[in-house]
Amino acid sequence: MKIISINAGSSSLKFSLFDMSNESVIASGLFERIGIEGSCYTIKYNGEKLEQEVELVDHSDAVRILLEKLIDLNIISSLDEIDGVGHRLVHGKDKYSSSVVITDEVIEDLEKFKDFAPLHNPANVLGIRAFQEVLPNIFMVGVFDTAFHQTMDEVTYLYPVPYSWYKDYGVRKYGFHGTSHRYIASTVAKLLNKNEFRLISCHIGNGGSITAIRDGKCVDTSMGLTPLAGIMMGTRSGDIDPSIITYVMEKEGKNASEVIDDLNKRSGLLGLSEYSHDMRDILEHIDEGDEKALLARDKYVRSIVNYIAQYYLLLGGVDAIVFTAGVGENSIPIRKLVCEKLLPLGVKIDLDKNNIRGEITKISTEDSKVAVYVIPTDEELMIARDTLSKLENR
Ligand code: AMP
Repeated sequence: MKIISINAGSSSLKFSLFDMSNESVIASGLFERIGIEGSCYTIKYNGEKLEQEVELVDHSDAVRILLEKLIDLNIISSLDEIDGVGHRLVHGKDKYSSSVVITDEVIEDLEKFKDFAPLHNPANVLGIRAFQEVLPNIFMVGVFDTAFHQTMDEVTYLYPVPYSWYKDYGVRKYGFHGTSHRYIASTVAKLLNKNEFRLISCHIGNGGSITAIRDGKCVDTSMGLTPLAGIMMGTRSGDIDPSIITYVMEKEGKNASEVIDDLNKRSGLLGLSEYSHDMRDILEHIDEGDEKALLARDKYVRSIVNYIAQYYLLLGGVDAIVFTAGVGENSIPIRKLVCEKLLPLGVKIDLDKNNIRGEITKISTEDSKVAVYVIPTDEELMIARDTLSKLENR
């Protein structure tokens, strides 16, 4: 069985082609600057990398060229070899609590819910429509970022605001990165060889969210109505006092969406360091004595520790903590700083074991009360697995 996982952005289309007999990636790549001058694509296969500039008017062009190239490069011999396509979908509100076979209704819902993910949902529709045009009979599955978090209870997902905002407008916590947190939970179940455990999954990359998981189900998560809430991120503020918005509107003569834009794009590590959103740059600048970079790093670590501590109590203790995504998988110093602050919870890490990047590793000591792991996330594989499961049960 061969399955393609697709992550469509407004001007990009990322793909991975899996051989599901052993879950290996046969080819992967990215189509960029779709509909913009200078469009190009990269395809990685068989240890090789093809990079080419090509005119991509729309997402259908990208899908057409992708399928042609898979055949030209002998990655597959015919399009019949592709059994299904799985799409990463961002916002399914409270209607979708698991992956679904894509129908007209799903596409209509993506459009209907676009206020909640204005950049992502319309782009997801473009990706689906492109495959419908180029491969009209292909079996397609949608995997929502929000679905995993649908197990949160009312006390968790409601905000303490007028109840009518929830009833009339759907104002509640939805959570994101659900596919990543679900992948982490399923990997931990394999590592611990059991399905009943309390887990805190820390997906910390440019965006970041922390999720409390009991027996494979989400109990709480740090992102909210939108991905702006929760921990401090590369360019996003995370949780702040909402009155800051009207105060800055008055001071700077901005409207609400301009200030929200500042909170999304000019805050977080970038906002405090006044230098970069990238943790690698921040750490380099600290070494050169930059105090604002140090402040940004410390605030970042504090916000992660605060959520872990909160979820430790919510879960009544914890069996495992996982670090994943760009910073979690790669930043040895950030993992060390976070774990040092978790010592009161009985968390101890082995500094030699922590000295790794991007591979599944247990970094806690034998006498740590909590197992701490680094696990590279794999949302693409999770999407392919869901597509396979829907194919097999159709
Ligand atoms: P992601 O959004 O998961 O792709 O993560 C991207 C972020 O990971 C970048 O913005 C960097 O801050 C961070 N990152 C990647 N590699 C490293 C590294 N070696 N050390 C520290 N941070 C890293």
